Amino acid sequence: MEEKNLKISIAHLYPKLLNLYGDIGNIITLKKRCEWRGIEVEFDEIDIGDSINDHDLYFIGGGQDKQQEDVAHELYKNKETLIEQRDNGAVFLGICGGYQLFGHYYQPFDREKLSGISLLDAYTVAGKKRFIGNVTAKTNLVSPDTLVGFENHSGLTFIQGDTKPLAIVSTGNGNNGKDKTEGAYYKNVFGTYLHGSFLPKNPHFADFLIERALEKRYGEKIKLSNLDDTLENKAHETLVDKAY
Ligand code: GLN
Repeated sequence: MEEKNLKISIAHLYPKLLNLYGDIGNIITLKKRCEWRGIEVEFDEIDIGDSINDHDLYFIGGGQDKQQEDVAHELYKNKETLIEQRDNGAVFLGICGGYQLFGHYYQPFDREKLSGISLLDAYTVAGKKRFIGNVTAKTNLVSPDTLVGFENHSGLTFIQGDTKPLAIVSTGNGNNGKDKTEGAYYKNVFGTYLHGSFLPKNPHFADFLIERALEKRYGEKIKLSNLDDTLENKAHETLVDKAY
């Protein structure tokens, strides 16, 4: 299939509430990498009260516990729809606070427990220590296998069952500072603690998500053409060097 006849639809969930450390950069990266290849992007911003329709790719960012609380209640109302979307192959990317809500629950330190939407078999409990700093981690989902980003969370996430770690930490803490896992995935649902923004720093992972979203839409694997990523790769490598 010719790339220029292709299209994907992307939804940004609750950007007014969850958007820390330039999480919007993830959306810009997805849009630009599609547009540069002539792939049309249909884009929707979903705010509190909006209904959630059929999309190929859903993105949600991170935020503080208060914002997470507002989003958690709203997400929960859409739980069935989003589980159905997941089971239809839709791609999800959740960063930090958004990732935590992809699990069964998030128990903050001194607030009420927030129900998640169980897209992932995972749960999060606030720890006493805050993990702040650069992270590098190795994944077997993409090549090159290094992911880099910036974490800032006190939530400790534990994954189980068919949900697998997105990557194994080389530098930094990742999910819980104990088991070396970073992020999680199940089907096409991906969660990570990496802010900063994640996809501009990891353009190879952005392309991986776009390919998965195209496959969901068209029912066949579509190999993306290469872009001139000289600057993007340099940014990635510089950040990796800085993190060690
Ligand atoms: N409130 C959550 C935590 O500290 C999420 C933080 C974030 O999204 N950066 O664990």
